Formats: sequence, C-alpha cells, structure tokens
Amino acid sequence: MSKLPILRIAIPTPLRRSFDYLPPEDGGASLRPGIRIRVPFGKRTVIGVLLELAGESAVPAQRLKSVIEVLDEEPILPPDLLALLNWGSRYYHHPIGEVVAGALPALLREGKPARIPDNPVWQLTESGRTATATTLTRAPRQQALLSILHEQAGGLLEQQIHQYQQNWRAVMNRLEEKGWVQRIEASFHTTRLAKSSPAVDERPALNQTQQTAVSKVLQTAGQFSVSLLDGVTGSGKTEVYLRIVEQIIKSGAQAMVLVPEIGLTPQLLDRFSQRFPRPVALLHSSLSRQERLAAWLSSRSGEADIIIGTRSALFTPVKKLGVIIVDEEHDTSFKQQEGFRYSARDMAIIRARNAGVPIVLGSATPSLESLYNAQQKRYQHLSLPERAGNAKPPVFRLLDLRQQPLQEGLSPKLLGIMKEHLQTEGQILLFLNRRGYAPTLLCHECGWVGRCQRCDTHLTFHQQERRLRCHHCGSERPLTPQCPDCGSIDLRALGTGTERVEQALQQHFPGIGIARLDRDSTRRKGSMQSLLNEIQQGKKRILIGTQMLAKGHHFPNVTLVGILDTDQGLFSADFRASERMSQLITQVAGRAGRAEKPGLVVIQTHHPEHPLLQQLITHGYQQFANTALKERQEAELPPHCSIALLRAEAAAAETPLNFLRQALQAAEQFSSGEVLLLGPVPAPMEKRAGRFRAQLLLQSAERIALHRLLDQWIPQLETIKNSRKVRWSLDIDPVDLF
Ligand code: ADP
Ligand code: ZN
Ligand code: ZN
Repeated sequence: MSKLPILRIAIPTPLRRSFDYLPPEDGGASLRPGIRIRVPFGKRTVIGVLLELAGESAVPAQRLKSVIEVLDEEPILPPDLLALLNWGSRYYHHPIGEVVAGALPALLREGKPARIPDNPVWQLTESGRTATATTLTRAPRQQALLSILHEQAGGLLEQQIHQYQQNWRAVMNRLEEKGWVQRIEASFHTTRLAKSSPAVDERPALNQTQQTAVSKVLQTAGQFSVSLLDGVTGSGKTEVYLRIVEQIIKSGAQAMVLVPEIGLTPQLLDRFSQRFPRPVALLHSSLSRQERLAAWLSSRSGEADIIIGTRSALFTPVKKLGVIIVDEEHDTSFKQQEGFRYSARDMAIIRARNAGVPIVLGSATPSLESLYNAQQKRYQHLSLPERAGNAKPPVFRLLDLRQQPLQEGLSPKLLGIMKEHLQTEGQILLFLNRRGYAPTLLCHECGWVGRCQRCDTHLTFHQQERRLRCHHCGSERPLTPQCPDCGSIDLRALGTGTERVEQALQQHFPGIGIARLDRDSTRRKGSMQSLLNEIQQGKKRILIGTQMLAKGHHFPNVTLVGILDTDQGLFSADFRASERMSQLITQVAGRAGRAEKPGLVVIQTHHPEHPLLQQLITHGYQQFANTALKERQEAELPPHCSIALLRAEAAAAETPLNFLRQALQAAEQFSSGEVLLLGPVPAPMEKRAGRFRAQLLLQSAERIALHRLLDQWIPQLETIKNSRKVRWSLDIDPVDLF
C-alpha cells in the first residue's frame, strides 16, 4: 500500500494546533500548501487552509478523517505568506487556525471562489468631471449624486449607491443621458484613487537629505534592509516614499504602503493617486466584502502596482513585492489589541526580511523601539531634520495656567493670541484629547455622579445628543433633567470636552467658521472628508479636535496650534505615557506653519517647569527620545527588555486573580530566573464592560528566554482548573499595559 500523505490543516478554532486529515477519496493531485479545504470538524464542517503535507501523523491512521472537498486549484496563500503567518502564530503564541483565517478576506473565509466578483461601478466621465453640481439646482437628486461622485474618486459600487440615495437608478440614468456618468462592467475595479485631474508632473526637486534617503533605500533594492526615515513634520517624508515607490514600480515590482488609519490620511492617498494614475489596491476596514476581495486579488495577481492599507493589509499576497513602507510607524494602531495581537509594523519587517526587500519605517516621532534599533545599527537611520520648501519650524510657548481663570478650558491669554491670529487671516487648530461635552456630570445638591454601571469610570456627557455615554464599553442612556438620586435639577457638567470648547468658541468668535473633528462629528460616511474640504477652503478658521487632528494632515494656513490640556499625560502609571504625549504634542504642533506662514504652538499647562515639557519644547522630540531611552535603560523597560502580559477577565473579581495565581505557580516550575513575573494585579481599570480584569506581567532581558518559558507554559494554562471560568489572553510586546 502506498503511503497516503497526511494533510496538516489550519482550522479556525481557538485550539493552539493544526489538525491532520487524509486526502479526499479521489486522491487530490493538486494538493499544495495554501489551498482551502472543507473538512469535518466535530459535528460541523469547516473551511481550513492546507499548511503542509506530512509523511505521518501522531494520530492513529484509523482515527483520521478524510477531507470533504478541495476548494482551490491554486494556493490562495502563497508560500511566503504562509511562512509569515506561521511565524506570527509562533511569536505571538496565537492559534494558527485563527491567524490564517484572519488573513483571508471574508468571502474567501466563507468558501467563495477566489475570483474577482462581478460588480459594476458608476464613474464620472470626462465631461462629468468638469460638470459642476450647481448647474443642476433644479434637479437636487441628480445634484446630490453628482457631488458624491465628485468626492468618490474611484466611482461608486452599484450595490452601495442606495446608501447615499434611495431609488437612485432613474436619477443616475438622467446623468447618463447627459453623458456625465458611465457604468463600468470591468471585472477589475480596485478603487482607483485617481482624482479628477491626475496632476501633470509636479514633483518638487528633492532636497539633499531627501535625495540621500531615497538613494540609501534604493541602494538596497532587491535585498532586505530596514530604514528608519526620521523626518520632522513637513520634512517631505511622503515625497521620499513617492520617489522610492516610483523606482520600485519601474523595476516591475509592487509596493506595499501601510498607514495607521485610511480615513484619517486622505491626503496621503490623494498624493499617491495624483502621482500614480495606475491601479492602486486599497485595503481598509470600511470596504465591502466584494471590494476587499477585489483589492486583495489585484494585489495577488500583480495587477495593482501599489497596495495601500491599514494594519491587516500586511497579510495581502503580493505577486512581486519590491518594498514595504510603514508610515507613522510609531502609531499604536499598528498593534492589534484583541484576538491575534500582532504588530503590523514588526511583522512587516519579518515579511520584508523573508521577501528580501527593503522596508522603510517613517515618522516624525519614531517609537523608542525603532530609535533604539537605529542606535544599535540594526536599522539605517535616515534623518530629514528640516522642513521641506520654505516652511520654518514652529515656535513653542508654554502658558502657565496656575491661578488663571479658565473658561471652558480656554485661558484669557490663549483667547487673546487667537484673536490676533484671526485678524491676520490665519487658521487655528486647538487640540483636546477628550470628546463629548464634559467627562463628568455631577449633582450639585447631593453629589451624585453619572457612572457607568459596567465599568470603573464616569459617563461622558454629550450635550448635543443629550445622552450620557461610556467611552469604554459604549453603554449609554438619555440625560434626565433631574438627578436620579435626589431629584434636584442642579446638574453640573465638570471638565471640558471638544463639544464644550466648540460651544464656547462660537460665543467668543461669532461669525467665524468653527469645525470640530472627533469621532462623534465624523461618524457619518463622508463627513470627515467634507469637514477637511471646508478647512482646506478656509471656510472654517478654527478647528477643535482630538488626536484625529494629529494624523498627517496638511493644513497650510494653520498659524496657531493650541494644546489645551497636557497635564493628563505628564503623570501616568503607564511607562509609555510620556512617549505618547511627546509624540502627540509634536505631531499636533507639526500642523502649524507648514507652508509660507510661520507657526506658533501654545501649550496650556499647570506644570510649566516639568522637565519633559521643557526638553520637548526647547530641544525637540529627538532629545526627549534620547533621555527617555536612557531612563528606560535604567529602569530595565522596553526596548531594553521584552515583555508579555497575561490578561484574564471574568464576571467575578476574584476569579481572574485566582487563575493568574495558579498560572504564576505553573510558570515558576519552568522559570530559570531569567524571566521576571510581576503580579498578578487588578488591571488599572479593573471593571470594564461588566467584567473584572487582572493581569500578570512577564519581563526578561532575553527575548529568547521569555519565549522559551511561554512555549512550555501556555499549554499548561489550558489545564488550569479554573481556566474555563476566565477569558484569558496573551499579549506579546503589549503597547498598553491595561
Ligand atoms: P511629511 O510627510 O514629512 O509631513 P510632506 O511630504 O507632506 O512631509 O511634505 C510637506 C510639504 O512640503 C508638502 O506640501 C510637499 O509637497 C512639500 N515638499 C516636499 N518635498 C519638497 C521639496 N523637496 N521641495 C519643496 N517642497 C517639498
Ligand atoms: Zn442629586
Ligand atoms: Zn462602560
């Protein structure tokens, strides 16, 4: 009897292993790793991915089941990607089945064919692009569709148009009769970013430092290298990316660009689309399932030259990868915070290494991890110390808030400076990292405070919607005019959120256009873009917003940036808090004076002598980072050690702590002293969404020692008596310690 191969298959389950099966009855000539296979699993049938063909199994042959059906002739996951996913599963100690399933577009996960779905798109024609919506004042529905199409560069998927307008078909037909729109049946409709007029060649001549950065990266084309592009805000990092990508595409390869959040970086997309009128595969979370599959396939087939996407786009197969760029590499949204807790930045480096291509990590405020690696010469350090073109660095000024009367978070001095800037036609950007009207609602009569029933936190008061909302679990309730405890109507809003500042500004500066940019004001599809447009056009002169404002926007007319509250970030238990705060301040400040006009950054604080603030504003982020790295070294904190966090949560407070205590005991038998185990302790916010949380921290100067311990320890965790009563998870290289 010839020996049948064993199929080792990744199956989406929380079990930390792969599963062995026998080939289908009819043999299965085209069995190659990376194909999808339908298999019986318990009482269900599920779709898994073939990882490898093995000669034998630890399971006795008579207990092995045969697979039901082979779904692909060609592997949908190429070998390099399978290798990356295997690496991720091992490094993050996460079940391979979940890792593999998470890398697939939903339609493939469900067993749909790996073909581009047939999906017509409506696009503007040449004359439609020049047609202005105002010529349609008597046909408001046509006007509305036309302006949506003007905003949506790639056109609208037919199946999504109803989201914008009910019964749109007749209206669209009118526009088609006018010759302004067309229906495209092409199977390939990866969102083309091209705007109305792909700009003629307007590339600025690179300055010396940009030139050096581009050539240092390109010198390593075709081989693995990591470059940290450390360039102050407005120094022309994007221009460097564009030039690198241009050359890579010319050489016949594809470029992958990872960004923190697509919705927040429309300007980066615009610039890529203007420079490259060729297909771009865009992968982010608000795509339809069909769009996502189409983009994924166009990257795999090599049809798309450029793949731009958020975190999970890293797992897109690329036919001929030439370079990876990670923009804003310090941004914590590259780290997935649930399920498979991977860092897309770190895994991108592994992917580049496996593929033998250069990777560029860009930021004005690099993470201390990356700076450390650059200092250690593991990365090449490319600096752009000055702003490109004629722009000058902003000037900083600290405003001492002590004993100052504050009006809704605004000091009289700041208001005075704002007046001056408004007189000189400048735009003003105010930063406050707290949305809603006020973080607390208090009864002045009895002291009642609106608290979340399910979390250890206050409910935020949202005035416009007249609701109290928990920003941690999402629970909410309508505002009642009376105190729920004593019936008093003297309810007072304590503290300041963006909504409250917006209102105050409207009173201080009547007639001036004010825009608020936070998650509440940008929830509706397209609202972010229209707010940004109004800002660009100068219709809004004052912008108040949360950290959304910090992300890569280019507002050439902003001359004043006001940072309303820094004091939260100065005193925090999280050892990364000061790094975060410095990044945020530097990034927000970087929105000032990006073009001809000089910028002023005013920071309101009760702690003007704080060494961190002082260092940041007098010597800049670089200096701050150097000091912070030394502190981390003395305290033996990352990047000078590796950490992992074991979290557990349950409905009762003691359960997770008990589980972690047993886990700790189990660990001690493997620990050779190279790994420090700290805890267990309740999480900083112990109760969240109705569950109690606790954690155990593992720390080691030797990454290998840490992983050796984890390899032995994790299987034990599954056998702990109470492990079923808690939900536990492991976070390798956590970015948040709670
Ligand atoms: P960053 O990505 O570092 O914030 P950008 O690439 O957005 O910087 O560049 C900031 C501004 O400077 C943009 O308007 C860009 O077009 C312009 N710019 C970039 N490089 C040059 C250059 N070499 N000469 C003139 N202007 C430039
Ligand atoms: Zn009361
Ligand atoms: Zn809550």
